[in-house]
Amino acid sequence: LGGVALAAWGRQEGLRGMIEELSEIGRPAGGSIRSGVSRVGYTDEDIAGRRYVMQKMRETGGVVRVDAAGNIFARREGRERGLAPVLVGSHVDTVPEGGNFDGVLGALAAVEVLRGAGATRRGIEAVVWACEEATFAGASLNGSRAAVGRMGAEELQVVWRGMTKAEAIRRIGGRPEELESARIQPGAYHAYVELHIEQGGRLEKAGVPIGVVEGIVGVDRYEVVVRGEANHAGTTPMAERKDALVAASQVTLAVREIVMSEPGEQVGTVGYLEVKPNAANVVPGEARLLVEMRDLSSAKLEALGAKIRKRVEAIAGESGLRIDMIRRGRNEPALADAGIAGRIEATARGLGLGTMRMASGAGHDAQMMARVMPMGMVFVPSAGGVSHSPREWTEWEDCERGARVLREVVLGLAG
Ligand SMILES: [Zn+2]
Repeated sequence: LGGVALAAWGRQEGLRGMIEELSEIGRPAGGSIRSGVSRVGYTDEDIAGRRYVMQKMRETGGVVRVDAAGNIFARREGRERGLAPVLVGSHVDTVPEGGNFDGVLGALAAVEVLRGAGATRRGIEAVVWACEEATFAGASLNGSRAAVGRMGAEELQVVWRGMTKAEAIRRIGGRPEELESARIQPGAYHAYVELHIEQGGRLEKAGVPIGVVEGIVGVDRYEVVVRGEANHAGTTPMAERKDALVAASQVTLAVREIVMSEPGEQVGTVGYLEVKPNAANVVPGEARLLVEMRDLSSAKLEALGAKIRKRVEAIAGESGLRIDMIRRGRNEPALADAGIAGRIEATARGLGLGTMRMASGAGHDAQMMARVMPMGMVFVPSAGGVSHSPREWTEWEDCERGARVLREVVLGLAG
Protein backbone atom coordinates (compact mmCIF):
# COMPACT_ATOMS: atom_id res chain seq x y z
CA LEU A 1 0.00 0.00 0.00
CA GLY A 2 2.52 2.53 -1.18
CA GLY A 3 1.86 6.05 -0.08
CA VAL A 4 -1.02 5.29 2.21
CA ALA A 5 -0.34 6.11 5.82
CA LEU A 6 -1.98 3.56 8.07
CA ALA A 7 -3.23 4.99 11.33
CA ALA A 8 -3.01 3.25 14.66
CA TRP A 9 -6.60 2.12 14.74
CA GLY A 10 -8.80 1.35 17.64
CA ARG A 11 -8.20 4.52 19.60
CA GLN A 12 -11.81 5.55 19.42
CA GLU A 13 -15.09 3.89 20.15
CA GLY A 14 -18.46 4.10 18.51
CA LEU A 15 -19.75 5.51 15.26
CA ARG A 16 -18.14 8.93 15.50
CA GLY A 17 -14.80 7.41 16.46
CA MET A 18 -14.89 5.10 13.44
CA ILE A 19 -15.88 7.91 11.04
CA GLU A 20 -13.00 10.01 12.37
CA GLU A 21 -10.51 7.15 12.05
CA LEU A 22 -11.61 6.21 8.56
CA SER A 23 -11.41 9.87 7.51
CA GLU A 24 -7.64 9.69 8.00
CA ILE A 25 -7.30 7.24 5.12
CA GLY A 26 -7.08 9.37 1.99
CA ARG A 27 -6.99 12.67 3.88
CA PRO A 28 -4.95 15.52 2.36
CA ALA A 29 -1.59 15.90 4.13
CA GLY A 30 -1.80 18.10 7.20
CA GLY A 31 -5.58 18.25 7.04
CA SER A 32 -8.40 17.38 9.41
CA ILE A 33 -11.75 15.65 9.02
CA ARG A 34 -12.97 19.01 7.69
CA SER A 35 -10.51 18.73 4.77
CA GLY A 36 -12.44 15.98 3.00
CA VAL A 37 -11.03 12.75 1.64
CA SER A 38 -10.02 11.01 -1.60
CA ARG A 39 -10.68 7.30 -1.38
CA VAL A 40 -11.51 6.48 -4.96
CA GLY A 41 -12.76 2.95 -5.64
CA TYR A 42 -10.09 0.33 -6.45
CA THR A 43 -7.16 2.60 -5.44
CA ASP A 44 -4.67 2.01 -2.60
CA GLU A 45 -6.65 4.37 -0.38
CA ASP A 46 -9.84 2.41 -1.06
CA ILE A 47 -8.07 -0.84 -0.24
CA ALA A 48 -6.79 0.62 3.05
CA GLY A 49 -10.27 1.92 3.91
CA ARG A 50 -11.81 -1.46 3.18
CA ARG A 51 -9.18 -3.13 5.37
CA TYR A 52 -10.15 -0.78 8.20
CA VAL A 53 -13.83 -1.66 7.90
CA MET A 54 -13.08 -5.38 7.73
CA GLN A 55 -11.11 -5.10 10.95
CA LYS A 56 -14.02 -3.31 12.60
CA MET A 57 -16.44 -5.96 11.29
CA ARG A 58 -14.31 -8.75 12.74
CA GLU A 59 -14.23 -6.99 16.11
CA THR A 60 -18.01 -7.31 16.26
CA GLY A 61 -17.69 -11.08 15.97
CA GLY A 62 -19.11 -11.08 12.45
CA VAL A 63 -17.83 -13.57 9.88
CA VAL A 64 -16.30 -11.54 7.04
CA ARG A 65 -16.21 -12.56 3.39
CA VAL A 66 -15.48 -10.74 0.12
CA ASP A 67 -17.62 -11.78 -2.84
CA ALA A 68 -16.44 -12.10 -6.46
CA ALA A 69 -17.28 -8.43 -7.18
CA GLY A 70 -15.27 -7.21 -4.19
CA ASN A 71 -18.27 -6.49 -1.94
CA ILE A 72 -17.54 -7.04 1.75
CA PHE A 73 -20.09 -8.90 3.87
CA ALA A 74 -20.03 -9.58 7.60
CA ARG A 75 -22.66 -11.93 8.98
CA ARG A 76 -23.99 -12.40 12.42
CA GLU A 77 -26.13 -15.52 12.57
CA GLY A 78 -29.66 -15.42 13.92
CA ARG A 79 -31.35 -17.91 16.23
CA GLU A 80 -33.19 -19.50 13.31
CA ARG A 81 -30.63 -20.39 10.71
CA GLY A 82 -33.21 -21.24 8.07
CA LEU A 83 -34.50 -17.65 7.89
CA ALA A 84 -33.16 -15.15 5.37
CA PRO A 85 -31.03 -12.49 7.09
CA VAL A 86 -31.49 -8.72 6.95
CA LEU A 87 -28.89 -6.88 4.85
CA VAL A 88 -27.70 -3.43 5.92
CA GLY A 89 -24.90 -1.26 4.55
CA SER A 90 -23.56 1.31 2.11
CA HIS A 91 -20.13 2.15 0.64
CA VAL A 92 -16.79 3.62 1.77
CA ASP A 93 -15.29 4.71 -1.56
CA THR A 94 -15.54 8.42 -2.36
CA VAL A 95 -15.27 10.79 -5.29
CA PRO A 96 -11.88 12.55 -5.61
CA GLU A 97 -11.82 15.31 -2.98
CA GLY A 98 -15.07 14.07 -1.53
CA GLY A 99 -16.54 14.17 1.94
CA ASN A 100 -16.40 11.92 4.99
CA PHE A 101 -20.09 11.07 5.30
CA ASP A 102 -21.37 9.98 1.87
CA GLY A 103 -21.54 6.18 2.14
CA VAL A 104 -19.25 6.06 5.17
CA LEU A 105 -22.04 6.93 7.59
CA GLY A 106 -24.26 4.07 6.40
CA ALA A 107 -21.46 1.53 6.13
CA LEU A 108 -20.09 2.19 9.62
CA ALA A 109 -23.57 2.48 11.14
CA ALA A 110 -24.18 -1.01 9.73
CA VAL A 111 -21.08 -2.23 11.59
CA GLU A 112 -22.51 -0.67 14.74
CA VAL A 113 -25.81 -2.50 14.17
CA LEU A 114 -23.85 -5.73 13.98
CA ARG A 115 -21.99 -4.90 17.16
CA GLY A 116 -25.05 -4.05 19.19
CA ALA A 117 -27.36 -6.78 17.94
CA GLY A 118 -28.44 -9.29 20.56
CA ALA A 119 -29.90 -12.67 19.70
CA THR A 120 -32.25 -11.92 16.82
CA ARG A 121 -34.39 -14.50 15.02
CA ARG A 122 -32.97 -13.64 11.63
CA GLY A 123 -29.29 -13.13 10.98
CA ILE A 124 -27.97 -9.66 10.19
CA GLU A 125 -25.42 -9.03 7.47
CA ALA A 126 -23.51 -5.78 7.07
CA VAL A 127 -22.30 -4.98 3.55
CA VAL A 128 -19.83 -2.52 2.02
CA TRP A 129 -20.49 -2.27 -1.72
CA ALA A 130 -17.46 -1.94 -4.00
CA CYS A 131 -16.90 1.30 -5.90
CA GLU A 132 -20.28 3.00 -5.61
CA GLU A 133 -19.17 6.30 -7.10
CA ALA A 134 -18.89 6.75 -10.87
CA THR A 135 -15.10 6.99 -10.69
CA PHE A 136 -14.15 4.04 -12.91
CA ALA A 137 -14.83 5.10 -16.51
CA GLY A 138 -18.02 6.84 -15.42
CA ALA A 139 -19.85 3.71 -14.26
CA SER A 140 -21.38 3.80 -10.78
CA LEU A 141 -22.87 1.26 -8.34
CA ASN A 142 -20.26 -1.28 -9.43
CA GLY A 143 -20.50 -3.78 -6.58
CA SER A 144 -24.25 -3.63 -6.10
CA ARG A 145 -24.82 -3.81 -9.86
CA ALA A 146 -22.73 -6.95 -10.10
CA ALA A 147 -24.75 -8.37 -7.18
CA VAL A 148 -27.93 -8.13 -9.23
CA GLY A 149 -26.36 -9.44 -12.43
CA ARG A 150 -26.03 -6.13 -14.24
CA MET A 151 -22.30 -6.11 -14.90
CA GLY A 152 -21.55 -7.95 -18.13
CA ALA A 153 -18.36 -9.51 -19.47
CA GLU A 154 -17.73 -6.51 -21.79
CA GLU A 155 -17.70 -4.15 -18.84
CA LEU A 156 -14.93 -6.18 -17.20
CA GLN A 157 -12.72 -5.33 -20.18
CA VAL A 158 -13.25 -1.55 -19.91
CA VAL A 159 -9.89 0.15 -19.29
CA TRP A 160 -9.51 3.09 -16.94
CA ARG A 161 -6.16 4.64 -16.01
CA GLY A 162 -4.31 1.68 -17.53
CA MET A 163 -6.30 -1.00 -15.70
CA THR A 164 -9.20 -3.17 -16.83
CA LYS A 165 -12.19 -3.36 -14.52
CA ALA A 166 -11.41 -7.06 -14.06
CA GLU A 167 -7.94 -6.15 -12.77
CA ALA A 168 -9.43 -3.45 -10.55
CA ILE A 169 -11.86 -5.94 -9.01
CA ARG A 170 -9.05 -8.44 -8.48
CA ARG A 171 -7.05 -5.73 -6.76
CA ILE A 172 -9.62 -5.33 -4.00
CA GLY A 173 -9.89 -9.07 -3.45
CA GLY A 174 -12.66 -9.93 -5.92
CA ARG A 175 -12.66 -12.73 -8.49
CA PRO A 176 -13.88 -11.28 -11.78
CA GLU A 177 -13.76 -14.67 -13.52
CA GLU A 178 -16.43 -15.86 -11.06
CA LEU A 179 -18.50 -12.67 -11.15
CA GLU A 180 -21.73 -14.61 -11.58
CA SER A 181 -21.25 -16.08 -8.09
CA ALA A 182 -21.67 -12.58 -6.63
CA ARG A 183 -25.26 -12.57 -7.79
CA ILE A 184 -27.77 -12.44 -4.94
CA GLN A 185 -30.19 -15.33 -5.30
CA PRO A 186 -33.95 -14.77 -4.93
CA GLY A 187 -34.97 -15.07 -1.29
CA ALA A 188 -31.38 -14.92 -0.04
CA TYR A 189 -32.20 -11.87 2.11
CA HIS A 190 -35.29 -10.70 3.95
CA ALA A 191 -34.74 -6.98 3.28
CA TYR A 192 -32.12 -4.30 2.64
CA VAL A 193 -31.83 -1.08 4.65
CA GLU A 194 -29.38 1.75 4.00
CA LEU A 195 -28.65 4.90 6.00
CA HIS A 196 -27.25 7.77 3.92
CA ILE A 197 -26.77 11.51 4.03
CA GLU A 198 -29.42 13.38 2.07
CA GLN A 199 -26.95 15.20 -0.25
CA GLY A 200 -29.55 17.91 -0.64
CA GLY A 201 -30.82 20.65 1.63
CA ARG A 202 -34.47 19.78 2.23
CA LEU A 203 -34.16 18.19 5.68
CA GLU A 204 -31.96 20.98 6.99
CA LYS A 205 -34.27 23.65 5.63
CA ALA A 206 -37.31 22.00 7.18
CA GLY A 207 -35.49 21.35 10.48
CA VAL A 208 -36.38 17.65 10.26
CA PRO A 209 -33.76 15.08 11.40
CA ILE A 210 -34.96 11.95 9.56
CA GLY A 211 -35.85 11.53 5.90
CA VAL A 212 -37.95 8.52 4.94
CA VAL A 213 -37.01 7.66 1.38
CA GLU A 214 -39.93 6.67 -0.84
CA GLY A 215 -37.67 5.69 -3.67
CA ILE A 216 -34.80 6.60 -5.89
CA VAL A 217 -35.87 8.57 -8.92
CA GLY A 218 -35.76 7.16 -12.41
CA VAL A 219 -33.81 8.99 -15.09
CA ASP A 220 -34.92 9.41 -18.72
CA ARG A 221 -32.51 10.84 -21.25
CA TYR A 222 -33.24 12.04 -24.77
CA GLU A 223 -30.94 13.34 -27.42
CA VAL A 224 -32.40 16.11 -29.56
CA VAL A 225 -30.70 16.87 -32.87
CA VAL A 226 -31.64 20.07 -34.69
CA ARG A 227 -30.56 20.28 -38.33
CA GLY A 228 -30.59 23.77 -39.83
CA GLU A 229 -28.36 25.40 -42.38
CA ALA A 230 -24.95 26.89 -41.68
CA ASN A 231 -24.53 30.15 -43.53
CA HIS A 232 -22.71 33.49 -43.43
CA ALA A 233 -23.73 35.49 -40.36
CA GLY A 234 -23.25 38.76 -42.19
CA THR A 235 -25.01 38.14 -45.48
CA THR A 236 -27.93 35.86 -44.54
CA PRO A 237 -31.04 37.96 -43.78
CA MET A 238 -32.77 37.18 -40.48
CA ALA A 239 -35.97 35.99 -42.13
CA GLU A 240 -34.15 33.49 -44.31
CA ARG A 241 -32.10 31.76 -41.65
CA LYS A 242 -32.37 28.16 -40.59
CA ASP A 243 -30.69 28.70 -37.25
CA ALA A 244 -30.32 25.41 -35.38
CA LEU A 245 -29.31 27.06 -32.11
CA VAL A 246 -32.38 29.27 -31.99
CA ALA A 247 -34.60 26.19 -32.31
CA ALA A 248 -32.46 24.33 -29.75
CA SER A 249 -32.95 27.24 -27.36
CA GLN A 250 -36.70 27.03 -27.82
CA VAL A 251 -36.52 23.33 -27.01
CA THR A 252 -34.46 24.08 -23.89
CA LEU A 253 -37.00 26.60 -22.63
CA ALA A 254 -39.86 24.24 -23.50
CA VAL A 255 -38.31 21.48 -21.33
CA ARG A 256 -38.22 23.83 -18.37
CA GLU A 257 -41.74 25.09 -18.95
CA ILE A 258 -43.29 21.63 -19.45
CA VAL A 259 -41.51 20.09 -16.45
CA MET A 260 -42.68 22.98 -14.26
CA SER A 261 -46.22 22.95 -15.61
CA GLU A 262 -47.48 20.25 -13.27
CA PRO A 263 -47.22 19.74 -9.52
CA GLY A 264 -44.67 17.30 -8.11
CA GLU A 265 -40.95 16.95 -7.54
CA GLN A 266 -39.97 16.08 -11.11
CA VAL A 267 -36.92 17.81 -12.55
CA GLY A 268 -35.82 18.33 -16.13
CA THR A 269 -32.51 19.62 -17.40
CA VAL A 270 -30.78 20.43 -20.64
CA GLY A 271 -27.20 20.13 -19.44
CA TYR A 272 -25.41 19.37 -22.67
CA LEU A 273 -25.37 21.37 -25.86
CA GLU A 274 -23.19 21.03 -28.92
CA VAL A 275 -23.28 23.62 -31.70
CA LYS A 276 -21.83 23.29 -35.18
CA PRO A 277 -19.78 24.88 -36.49
CA ASN A 278 -19.74 26.96 -33.27
CA ALA A 279 -18.23 30.10 -34.77
CA ALA A 280 -19.14 33.73 -34.16
CA ASN A 281 -19.64 34.53 -37.84
CA VAL A 282 -21.65 31.48 -38.90
CA VAL A 283 -25.38 30.84 -38.46
CA PRO A 284 -25.47 27.58 -36.47
CA GLY A 285 -26.12 24.66 -38.81
CA GLU A 286 -26.61 21.92 -36.27
CA ALA A 287 -27.31 21.67 -32.56
CA ARG A 288 -27.37 18.59 -30.41
CA LEU A 289 -28.67 18.63 -26.86
CA LEU A 290 -29.37 16.15 -24.09
CA VAL A 291 -32.59 16.34 -22.12
CA GLU A 292 -32.62 14.59 -18.77
CA MET A 293 -35.66 14.12 -16.54
CA ARG A 294 -35.98 12.53 -13.13
CA ASP A 295 -38.97 11.40 -11.10
CA LEU A 296 -40.19 8.54 -8.93
CA SER A 297 -42.94 7.70 -11.41
CA SER A 298 -42.11 6.08 -14.77
CA ALA A 299 -45.58 7.04 -16.00
CA LYS A 300 -44.91 10.69 -15.29
CA LEU A 301 -41.53 10.54 -17.02
CA GLU A 302 -43.24 8.92 -20.00
CA ALA A 303 -45.94 11.59 -20.11
CA LEU A 304 -43.46 14.46 -19.82
CA GLY A 305 -41.39 12.92 -22.60
CA ALA A 306 -44.47 12.75 -24.83
CA LYS A 307 -45.34 16.41 -24.11
CA ILE A 308 -41.82 17.51 -24.94
CA ARG A 309 -41.87 15.48 -28.13
CA LYS A 310 -45.09 17.18 -29.20
CA ARG A 311 -43.58 20.58 -28.55
CA VAL A 312 -40.42 19.64 -30.42
CA GLU A 313 -42.56 18.73 -33.43
CA ALA A 314 -44.32 22.09 -33.20
CA ILE A 315 -40.99 23.95 -33.05
CA ALA A 316 -39.80 21.97 -36.08
CA GLY A 317 -42.98 22.89 -37.95
CA GLU A 318 -42.76 26.60 -37.15
CA SER A 319 -39.05 26.86 -37.92
CA GLY A 320 -38.96 24.59 -40.94
CA LEU A 321 -35.99 22.74 -39.45
CA ARG A 322 -35.62 19.01 -39.02
CA ILE A 323 -35.57 18.02 -35.35
CA ASP A 324 -35.12 14.44 -34.15
CA MET A 325 -35.75 13.39 -30.57
CA ILE A 326 -34.20 10.03 -29.70
CA ARG A 327 -34.45 8.18 -26.40
CA ARG A 328 -30.93 7.61 -25.10
CA GLY A 329 -31.54 5.67 -21.97
CA ARG A 330 -33.75 5.02 -19.02
CA ASN A 331 -32.97 4.07 -15.47
CA GLU A 332 -36.14 2.79 -13.90
CA PRO A 333 -37.16 4.37 -10.61
CA ALA A 334 -36.53 2.12 -7.61
CA LEU A 335 -39.32 2.26 -5.07
CA ALA A 336 -38.77 1.66 -1.40
CA ASP A 337 -40.92 -1.02 0.21
CA ALA A 338 -43.96 0.67 1.77
CA GLY A 339 -43.80 -1.56 4.83
CA ILE A 340 -40.16 -0.70 5.54
CA ALA A 341 -40.78 3.01 4.92
CA GLY A 342 -43.64 2.86 7.42
CA ARG A 343 -41.38 1.09 9.90
CA ILE A 344 -38.70 3.78 9.52
CA GLU A 345 -41.29 6.49 10.08
CA ALA A 346 -42.82 4.82 13.12
CA THR A 347 -39.40 4.04 14.62
CA ALA A 348 -38.21 7.63 14.25
CA ARG A 349 -41.40 9.01 15.76
CA GLY A 350 -41.12 6.52 18.60
CA LEU A 351 -37.71 8.01 19.32
CA GLY A 352 -39.22 11.49 19.27
CA LEU A 353 -37.67 12.38 15.90
CA GLY A 354 -39.56 14.25 13.20
CA THR A 355 -39.70 12.69 9.75
CA MET A 356 -40.24 13.75 6.18
CA ARG A 357 -41.06 11.55 3.19
CA MET A 358 -38.85 12.23 0.21
CA ALA A 359 -37.49 10.90 -3.05
CA SER A 360 -33.77 10.48 -3.56
CA GLY A 361 -32.56 12.46 -6.55
CA ALA A 362 -29.14 10.83 -6.35
CA GLY A 363 -28.39 7.20 -7.13
CA HIS A 364 -27.63 4.66 -4.39
CA ASP A 365 -26.72 0.98 -4.05
CA ALA A 366 -30.20 0.59 -2.55
CA GLN A 367 -31.74 1.03 -6.02
CA MET A 368 -30.02 -2.15 -7.15
CA MET A 369 -31.14 -4.02 -4.04
CA ALA A 370 -34.74 -2.94 -4.71
CA ARG A 371 -34.64 -5.24 -7.75
CA VAL A 372 -34.14 -8.33 -5.63
CA MET A 373 -35.61 -7.62 -2.18
CA PRO A 374 -37.73 -5.15 -0.20
CA MET A 375 -35.63 -2.01 0.30
CA GLY A 376 -35.72 0.93 2.67
CA MET A 377 -33.54 4.02 3.10
CA VAL A 378 -33.05 6.49 5.94
CA PHE A 379 -31.74 9.99 5.18
CA VAL A 380 -30.12 12.44 7.58
CA PRO A 381 -29.47 16.15 6.91
CA SER A 382 -26.50 17.38 4.88
CA ALA A 383 -25.27 20.74 6.18
CA GLY A 384 -25.96 23.34 3.50
CA GLY A 385 -27.10 20.56 1.18
CA VAL A 386 -23.46 20.08 0.13
CA SER A 387 -21.92 16.72 -0.82
CA HIS A 388 -19.22 15.30 -3.08
CA SER A 389 -17.06 18.06 -1.62
CA PRO A 390 -14.63 18.46 1.29
CA ARG A 391 -17.32 20.76 2.74
CA GLU A 392 -19.73 17.84 3.03
CA TRP A 393 -20.82 17.64 6.66
CA THR A 394 -23.47 16.05 8.84
CA GLU A 395 -23.68 17.01 12.51
CA TRP A 396 -22.63 14.20 14.87
CA GLU A 397 -26.00 14.37 16.56
CA ASP A 398 -27.72 13.77 13.22
CA CYS A 399 -25.37 10.86 12.46
CA GLU A 400 -26.24 9.27 15.79
CA ARG A 401 -29.97 9.82 15.27
CA GLY A 402 -29.87 8.20 11.85
CA ALA A 403 -27.80 5.30 13.17
CA ARG A 404 -30.26 4.80 16.01
CA VAL A 405 -33.22 4.66 13.64
CA LEU A 406 -31.31 2.29 11.37
CA ARG A 407 -30.47 0.01 14.26
CA GLU A 408 -34.04 -0.14 15.56
CA VAL A 409 -35.43 -0.78 12.09
CA VAL A 410 -32.94 -3.56 11.33
CA LEU A 411 -33.44 -5.20 14.73
CA GLY A 412 -37.19 -4.97 14.21
CA LEU A 413 -36.93 -6.64 10.81
CA ALA A 414 -34.63 -9.31 12.23
CA GLY A 415 -37.19 -10.06 14.96
ZN1 LIG B 1 -23.20 7.43 -1.43
